Amino acid sequence: MTGSGAQLTGTPSNRSGAWAGLQAFDTEHVWHPYDRLPAPAPALPVVGAQGVRLHLADGRQLIDGMSSWWCAVHGYRHPALDAAVREQLEQMAHVMFGGLTHEPAVRLAARLAELAPEGLSEVFFCDSGSVAVEVALKMCVQYQAACGHGHRQRMLTVRGGYHGDTLGAMAVCDPDDGMHALFAGMVPRHVFAARPPDGFGAGLDPDWAAALEALAADHADELAAVVVEPVVQGAGGMRFHSPACVAYLRELCDRHGLLLVLDEIATGFGRTGAMFACEHAGVSADVMCVGKALTGGYLSLAATLCSADVAAAIGAGEGGALMHGPTYMANPLACAVGLASTALLADGAWMGDVARIERGLRAGLSDARELPGVADVRVLGAIGVVELDRRVDVAAATAAAVAAGVWLRPFRNLVYVMPAYVTSDEELDQVVAGVLAAVTAA
Ligand SMILES: *Cc1c(COP(=O)(O)O)cnc(C)c1O
Repeated sequence: MTGSGAQLTGTPSNRSGAWAGLQAFDTEHVWHPYDRLPAPAPALPVVGAQGVRLHLADGRQLIDGMSSWWCAVHGYRHPALDAAVREQLEQMAHVMFGGLTHEPAVRLAARLAELAPEGLSEVFFCDSGSVAVEVALKMCVQYQAACGHGHRQRMLTVRGGYHGDTLGAMAVCDPDDGMHALFAGMVPRHVFAARPPDGFGAGLDPDWAAALEALAADHADELAAVVVEPVVQGAGGMRFHSPACVAYLRELCDRHGLLLVLDEIATGFGRTGAMFACEHAGVSADVMCVGKALTGGYLSLAATLCSADVAAAIGAGEGGALMHGPTYMANPLACAVGLASTALLADGAWMGDVARIERGLRAGLSDARELPGVADVRVLGAIGVVELDRRVDVAAATAAAVAAGVWLRPFRNLVYVMPAYVTSDEELDQVVAGVLAAVTAA
């Protein structure tokens, strides 16, 4: 370690006085998501979080409109989640999952199979959403090979998607926004259809359906699966589409011998008003990825669920096993808090909260329609989006939201929120005010 870093390796400190040095080191040497070094602007130091509020080093408190990127649905420092981590820590923090097992993993797998749409009974735990998508892609390719279709290794997906940042996941992200050109030699070329037409209530567009059918038929002998985010495209553009599109993709897969992979990493655990977004369409998947809110925002954990048929085929196939096994697979601390988080959802009270937040966002954000430069305002479940007709000035928009006591992280032309389900009506009013301030400043 050189220079300023040498003085920073002591005991962590919450005192804001210590922050000057830490912040300088952070800005110079620590990468943040999708950023460069040194960072163009310092990040805000957070020293604590409680309920829906982030506590900054300078004493300010911000209501988190992002619930830490879809994760902290029950709020920060929830007593049941804190207790779950503490109790598990008294047993063990981690053991390898090869040849060993433990109660939190088994119980959480059973819980997931119970909550999941029909038929998704088999559970693979991994450490992040991106890895869950990698595992899903491998499952599909191994399944097809086991069924005698070793040439079926490509995926059919739609534009506008986001499935993670690892190479395999990136390959099924939108080819332009996912910057495939930058990694052209490393990213496999999959088959892309047009985005599903906008609008939760839009129904099935026959032209879109016909184009999908044509692509599936043209590439029938090389496609393994269809991979999509059901109903809500998240980081690819915060767009909503009709459940009828998801139902159509289910039929398409069945007609062409493709597996349907639903990426519910952002939408899962109630965010859209249904436990899983595919429930709006009344269909299930062959393979489903979950992550983000799985641990209520406590620890990085994701899972890839599949049907018994898919698992059986893979087991009977050439490799005789699913070829994946992360070091921290089914980490006990993460599984224990995942169990506690899903237990909080089990009584269904989240439904009333998500419906209440949806009403609040619809009422509150409708005022944004009148603001200059606003192209669209849309709400689904506990997701509110204001789309501008230009790129957001992220620094100006964030500063305006912070001044209003709200944490937002706009991207591209979008100012959006996905608050914790426990956000009160009063707090939601403040979140809405923060969005309006951000839009005005952007
Ligand atoms: C966030 C996200 C991922 C990636 O999850 P990470 O945990 O960030 O790797 C994948 N798919 C969707 C739909 C997501 O929103």
